[in-house]
Amino acid sequence: MSTIQTINPATEEIIASYNRMHPEAAKEKVDKAHEAFLSWRTRSFEDRAKLMHTLADLFEEKTEVYAQLATEEMGKTIAQSRGEVEKCARICRYYADNAASLLANTSVETEAKKSYVTFQPLGVLLAVMPWNFPFYQVIRFAAPALMAGNTCVLKHASNVQGCAFKLEEMIEEAGFPQGVFANLNINSDSVKEVIEHKHVKAVTLTGSEPAGRSVAAIAGENLKKTVMELGGSDAYIILEDANIEDATDLATFGRLQNNGQTCIAAKRFVVVEEVYDEFLTKFTEKMQSKKMGKPTDEDTYYGPLARIDLRDELHEQVQKTVSQGARLVIGGSVPKQKGAYYPATILAEVTPGMEGFDNELFGPVASVIKAKDEAHAIELANNSNFGLGSGVITSNRERGERIALQLEAGSSFVNKLVVSDPRLPFGGIKNSGYGRELSGYGIREFTNTKSIWIE
Ligand code: NAP
Repeated sequence: MSTIQTINPATEEIIASYNRMHPEAAKEKVDKAHEAFLSWRTRSFEDRAKLMHTLADLFEEKTEVYAQLATEEMGKTIAQSRGEVEKCARICRYYADNAASLLANTSVETEAKKSYVTFQPLGVLLAVMPWNFPFYQVIRFAAPALMAGNTCVLKHASNVQGCAFKLEEMIEEAGFPQGVFANLNINSDSVKEVIEHKHVKAVTLTGSEPAGRSVAAIAGENLKKTVMELGGSDAYIILEDANIEDATDLATFGRLQNNGQTCIAAKRFVVVEEVYDEFLTKFTEKMQSKKMGKPTDEDTYYGPLARIDLRDELHEQVQKTVSQGARLVIGGSVPKQKGAYYPATILAEVTPGMEGFDNELFGPVASVIKAKDEAHAIELANNSNFGLGSGVITSNRERGERIALQLEAGSSFVNKLVVSDPRLPFGGIKNSGYGRELSGYGIREFTNTKSIWIE
């Protein structure tokens, strides 16, 4: 039996070893999840909500324990890990309080005595999840899925298995029935067998484009519904009427939060030429002033990347972009120290066709792009295979809204960084995936939208 080790990216020390689960054992967990589904689906929203609130209580009561674990496994700063854990509690409470109304029957006027649409759970869902928000990504799918009456099996990223097992333990501790949620500690090659299992009814994946393509293809062959939350290269347009002080504060936080590893992070800054130099100067000063350091130190602004191989991959992308003609303004070299650290880096005069324009840079590296005017900025922003988030920075809200409506992305925010909020749908278009999480749209993704007609 193979084992996997989790490694602290700040120190390169081994945290723990786990035996990989054999695919047959994983399929037994799916069978148990199916058995659990048969009674879980009959429980009232009220019953399910009680347990979901208890889970939220656990996130709130033991925030520090879970936050330390996330930081240890993937290097997020401790302050941001606490924020992530607190957000999990809010998502649990949102769905505990709102699932019944979000899934309420919708009556439809027809010639029938009675006709309406009802939303019924599908069964066992498989979730393939990434490491960048090791608790939140799982709760974002699991809270609505469980409240809708589905049961869940999780294939989490290998480097955050401690968080994966902790989630399984917490859900049990909150009092959910045995089998409604299980962590499958399998490798990605075994995902196919799990998808093919007759009791797996749908699959949700949050992760990279290649992983999404592979899992969606297998699910497609098996005619199983999928939701795909994939990568992004979000563009933020900075117009000549923007307050450059505010724009650069937002850009700095947007590019460095979660050590630069957020799907909806601001990655491409498309700046109109009138304010390009001013933006670049201020942005450079601010990016340079932020402290890179141990993620456990309270005053660290950003820590290491989650793994050494990811750091090396990012560095290659930076070198490639420079070799293609971009200007390296700051950063761009691997520090001589232990850990997967990479400094805040700015690439300027980035243009279409360059690595830093066409592909996702998943780390603290910003691509700054010059646009002739508003129309050119929109064209550059939309010149991407991705379409997750996007933004506009302007002092004119109406102008911002007009542009936001033209951006090809699942979300467009004016004068604010894109955030995921349980009240709003979250997801992408183009190679950023399809389907939605959060809000009523998210909870209905994994239900049978069923028509009832009574003559
Ligand atoms: P990843 O390498 O794609 O891994 C994501 C998950 O997929 C992990 O559990 C991984 O398992 C598994 N996996 C990888 N290849 C697979 C395959 N061929 N078949 C089945 N499973 C496979 O992505 P990541 O590095 O963890 O996360 C970063 C990416 O996720 C970025 O592109 C980011 O933008 C995206 N992301 C998107 C969203 C969103 O909501 N749209 C949110 C967060 C992150 P192993 O760990 O065992 O390889």
